[in-house]
Amino acid sequence: MKRITVIIPFLNEESVLEKLYERLILLADDCSTYRFDFLFVNDGSNDQSLAIVLGLRKKDDRVTLLELSRNYGKEIAMLAGFDHAKGDAVVVIDSDLQQPPELIKEMIIWWEKGYEDVYAVRKERKGEHFFKKWTSACYYKILQKASKTNIYPNAGDFRLLDRKAVEALKMIREYERYTKGLYGWIGFKKKELYYDADERAGGTTKWRFSSLFNLAMNGVTSYTTLPLKITTVIGGIVSFAAFIYMLIVLVQTLLLGADVSGYPSLMIGILFLGGLQLISLGIIGEYLGRVFNETKKRPLYFIDTYYDTQSSETAKLS
Ligand code: UDP
Ligand code: MG
Repeated sequence: MKRITVIIPFLNEESVLEKLYERLILLADDCSTYRFDFLFVNDGSNDQSLAIVLGLRKKDDRVTLLELSRNYGKEIAMLAGFDHAKGDAVVVIDSDLQQPPELIKEMIIWWEKGYEDVYAVRKERKGEHFFKKWTSACYYKILQKASKTNIYPNAGDFRLLDRKAVEALKMIREYERYTKGLYGWIGFKKKELYYDADERAGGTTKWRFSSLFNLAMNGVTSYTTLPLKITTVIGGIVSFAAFIYMLIVLVQTLLLGADVSGYPSLMIGILFLGGLQLISLGIIGEYLGRVFNETKKRPLYFIDTYYDTQSSETAKLS
C-alpha cells in the first residue's frame, strides 16, 4: 500500500483544526487504497490548537504531531514537515480550509500518471482585498522577469510532491527560504490543477504586512542579483551625466567667468545623489545580510516534541 503524508503547518488555528480533520478523514476514506497519515506541525501556537491535535491523536493514530520549539514561520515549518514525512508522496495543505482537501484525490491520480509535483493554482482569491491581489500580481511579474528560475505566480504551497522532490527539497538548507521558488528550481515533472480558493473557515490570516514584505524580499534576493546590476547601471548613468555637466560648467566659467549662484541645483544634486547612494547601500546590505545569515550555519529549527506514529513519544533535537 502506498503511503501519503499530509503536512499541515499551523499557528494558532484552534477554530479550524477540527473542521480540517473532518474533511481529511473523509478524503482518506475516499482514497482507501492508500495509507494516509496527517503530520501536523505546530509552529509555536499559544492557543488551544496543540490540545486539539493531541485530542485528535488520541482517537486516530494516523495523526502525528511535530511541535517546534517556537514560531519559525511557515516556510521552516514546512521543511520540518518534509524532514519527518514518511510517505511515498507528501501533500502540503494550509490548516484554514482555504484549499479544498478534496482536490488531493485528483492530485493522487496525476501522481500515479508519473507527475512528481502536482500543484494547485487558485482561480480566484476570495476574501482578499484588492491591494493584496494587485501587489502580489505586480511582484510576481517583476520577479519572473528578473530571475531565470520559473516561479508560478498563483501556485502556493498546496501541492503533492513525490518522494524524489521531497528529498531534493530536504537537501536545500537555506536559512532564508523561499519555497515557492525552490519548487521551480528543483525541477521534476509538473502538473497544474485549478481550484477556487475559499475564505478562511475561521480565525484570521497569520500574515502581517511586514512578514509579507520579508518574504517578498527573500524571493528577490534568493533568485536574482538584478537589483545589484540596476544600481551599477544607475551609478554609471549618473556619473556620466555629472561628467558632462562638469564640462559644461568648466566651459561656462572659462568663457563667461565664475558665477556663485546655483544653490538650489547644488542642493538637489547632493540630496539626489545621497539618496541613490543610500538605496544602493541598502540593496548591497540585503544581499550581505543573507550571506551573513547563511554563513552562521545554524540548524534551521529545533523540535520540542515529536509525536510519532507508533505513539512512541520521543523528544529529540534536530
Ligand atoms: N502558518 C504557520 N506559521 C506562521 C504563519 C502561518 O504555520 O508563522 C500557517 C497557518 O496556520 C496556515 C498557513 O500557514 O495553516 C497559511 O497561513 P494563512 O492562512 O494565515 O496565510 P494566507 O492564506 O492568508 O496567505
Ligand atoms: Mg489562509
